[in-house]
Amino acid sequence: METTKTISDYFGSMVFDDRVMKAKLSAKVYSSLRRTIDEGAELDIRVANAVAEAMKDWAVSKGATHFTHWFQPLTGITAEKHDSFISPSPDGGVIMEFSGKELIKGEPDASSFPSGGLRATFEARGYTAWDPTSYAFIKGKTLCIPTAFCSYGGPALDKKTPLLRSMEVLSKEALRILKLFGNKTAKRVVSSVGPEQEYFLVTKEMFNKRPDLCFTGRTLFGAKPPKGQEMDDHYFGVIKPRVAAFMEELNEELWKLGILAKTEHNEVAPAQHELAPIYSTTNIATDHNQLTMEIMQKVAAKHGLVCLLHEKPFAGVNGSGKHNNWSIATDNGQNLLSPGETPYENAQFLLFLCAVIKAVDDYQDLLRLSVATAGNDHRLGANEAPPAVISIFLGDELNAVMEAIESGKPYAGAEKTQMKLGVDVLPKFNRDTTDRNRTSPFAFTGNKFEFRMLGSSNSIACANIMLNASVAESLRIYADRLEKAEDFETTLHEMIQKTFHDHKRIIFNGNGYDDAWIKEATEKRGLLNYRTTADCMPHLLDEKNVKMLTGLGVFSEEELRSRCDIMLENYCKSVVIEANTMVDMARTLIAPAVEAYASDVAKAAAAKKAVVPGLGCGYETELVKKLSSLTDSISARTDELAEAILKVAGAGDIIEESGLVRDILLPKMSELRIPCDQAEVITARSYWPFPTYGELLFGVK
Ligand code: ADP
Ligand code: MG
Repeated sequence: METTKTISDYFGSMVFDDRVMKAKLSAKVYSSLRRTIDEGAELDIRVANAVAEAMKDWAVSKGATHFTHWFQPLTGITAEKHDSFISPSPDGGVIMEFSGKELIKGEPDASSFPSGGLRATFEARGYTAWDPTSYAFIKGKTLCIPTAFCSYGGPALDKKTPLLRSMEVLSKEALRILKLFGNKTAKRVVSSVGPEQEYFLVTKEMFNKRPDLCFTGRTLFGAKPPKGQEMDDHYFGVIKPRVAAFMEELNEELWKLGILAKTEHNEVAPAQHELAPIYSTTNIATDHNQLTMEIMQKVAAKHGLVCLLHEKPFAGVNGSGKHNNWSIATDNGQNLLSPGETPYENAQFLLFLCAVIKAVDDYQDLLRLSVATAGNDHRLGANEAPPAVISIFLGDELNAVMEAIESGKPYAGAEKTQMKLGVDVLPKFNRDTTDRNRTSPFAFTGNKFEFRMLGSSNSIACANIMLNASVAESLRIYADRLEKAEDFETTLHEMIQKTFHDHKRIIFNGNGYDDAWIKEATEKRGLLNYRTTADCMPHLLDEKNVKMLTGLGVFSEEELRSRCDIMLENYCKSVVIEANTMVDMARTLIAPAVEAYASDVAKAAAAKKAVVPGLGCGYETELVKKLSSLTDSISARTDELAEAILKVAGAGDIIEESGLVRDILLPKMSELRIPCDQAEVITARSYWPFPTYGELLFGVK
């Protein structure tokens, strides 16, 4: 009798996880590896050899033939170079080999990865180093070993290295605070993330007919369809069979990789969906999110679909983001962003809360730029995603507690005052699910913060590096003061009061989508409003930011400079590719289509007149006039855009170039789009050279 496989039978079956390690490694090797994973102890080469051998045998038994050091270069995607396990044996055959050295360190030819000048030509090679805290896994026929990627001089060339450093420093500073509150048992503090991933699905057939989707991941033209998202009938709606089949296979593939895919539903826009995993440690969550995005695209292809991860694939309907649910907890499971049972626990909670408030206010610019890409610029500031202005939503109850502390009045909920804070009894802050909450870029949701500005294609590493580092900086300042304090409680009380007083401008519990808020935020409160990547990215190198990030050891100054360059380069390159695609589509597809239609209409009019002399042909005449004037305008604006591309190419440096992209290129692109979209709605459908918005958005049945 055939037995059905349950999820628990195959969950993690492609992961060299703790269960496999325990089963396949000797007790001595296992405990030594565990020490490396848990405490960062150095790995002995003999242990590495034993682990490599076991890993290889396990991988080969699952059909793997190759291994790769899997890493996350600054391109934002993941990279891998495959080597096979084979090694010649003297008898003419091959044996499967994999050494500890190969496990620990790899040397991909790194010269083509962006380094922002970090890798001098004489040392064009970087190396990858195994990150034993993230389990190895099998993808296809390849054993993938999660690694960090560095240049020989030391500077990091990837996103994982600074992420691990930021987690380390957050743990260190948080432990100092916990110690002051009498916690003697916590050995580590871990930041966790649950990223909610949004995406669109379109059919492969239609995708292939649109050069804009193929080259840039988003549509650069397209008139508004008769129906968009106005009926609100897609959100949480019934999932169509083809999408359901995709989701089912996607879940299975993710589960095999030990990824805790948990919820899936339709999103606001037609053809838009979301997948959320159960949260995990930040670097694992980051690895898993990168894998999730990759597997989504692979599985979609198997179903004749294309998964669009771009932040704004379609104008006029919602774009896609990635909500970064973030919390910090001790290794024994105490969530430090959860109000506790005792006055001491609550005072501790309020201090951690203050650390986040201070961090978000002091480093608004870093948080903003950590999510800045050309794609995400289309979302932030439109009426769908949080604005480009950062603020924190606390909710009415918690806000009232903070206000009571600031004004020195006892909070109404406090029964007996055991601590000077006067808040020994805190209510459980249940998640506020109002609309106000959902419009906030950074909302407290009961026991975690939800950072909502990330774009759907962003690696979550950058946002979490900045979040971890800036909160670590607040905690460092607090710990410095509290460790020296003569009266702990009084100092604590004053610090919480002062933080709230100094930083309450960042707290906003109203509607973040409201234009009045942007005015208030920028004019009255002096909050930053960097609308584009070109505006915010250079602030990575502001003195206060460099001081904080280098002071904590999260980045070196050299790494920051290179990252700023690379991010701006990515921004410019993405937009220039879009502009080139527009010029190409306008000249070779749109203008000829409109022209062909106009010419056929003119021919039809002439033919009619030949049959019925004196016929007015008012319809045809008007239509041909309109179409001709649109092709004139398309032609002129295409030439202007092409000129703008040349201007950008002539920029002296990357700062100037990104300014030209923002000020000249993007506006010229918008101008060209207008006559093209106008032509689309008066050109017979059979002449239009690629699928329309209506067809794309409602094409997956
Ligand atoms: P929703 O936002 O749909 O209401 P939840 O708030 O329960 O759902 O969860 C959204 C995401 O937040 C999920 O990925 C979940 O695992 C994650 N999450 C829940 N609790 C925490 C936590 N303490 N720290 C980090 N992420 C969390
Ligand atoms: Mg959410």
